Amino acid sequence: MESEALRSRVIETARSMLRLGLTVGTGGNVSVRCPGVNAFLITPSSLSYETLVPEDIAVVDLDDCTHKGRHKPSIEFRLHRSVYLARPDVSAVVHAHPPIASALAVAHKPLPLIIDACTFAFKDEVKVAEYGKPGSLELAENTVKALGDNTAVLLANHGILCVGDSLKAALERCEVLDKAALTYILSLIAGTPVCLKPLSDSG
Ligand SMILES: [Zn+2]
Repeated sequence: MESEALRSRVIETARSMLRLGLTVGTGGNVSVRCPGVNAFLITPSSLSYETLVPEDIAVVDLDDCTHKGRHKPSIEFRLHRSVYLARPDVSAVVHAHPPIASALAVAHKPLPLIIDACTFAFKDEVKVAEYGKPGSLELAENTVKALGDNTAVLLANHGILCVGDSLKAALERCEVLDKAALTYILSLIAGTPVCLKPLSDSG
């Protein structure tokens, strides 16, 4: 069985996502690559994060999309799989429904690099993926396209997805994205936001 410690970290990340107000109820989902095999661990479908135990975490095969475990994987397992296939550099994915960043996703408005924290967390402005129904291949394809080589993406009329080389990094990006979205919306009220360039452009 894949490491119990890694399964526990998936559960801790999902609980943190909930406690940080980045999602409600059983919304959102968390996954991590399994070291040494072509598969990933992901939170199960429709189970409370607070009562999860390591054995509840599902395993999805990256090659054929089959899954193992006593529960079905999250409905968004195709979304996570597509990101891992497109981005070999990504080890963890957190998909959440935070209220403020989701407002930008509803407005189909990208988040520019407005504060230094954004330039550290994201490679460039955070784009909006075109709408796809939850759990659909269309959502997965649209998300991978808008994510590109960035570390975060807004999902139109749905939520956000952040990636990282660890669960901690992916979760922290979700926090930065939601807080920066609030700052951005307030700055639009205060005046005209002045945006920063990506760190890669600063020479
Ligand atoms: Zn969702």
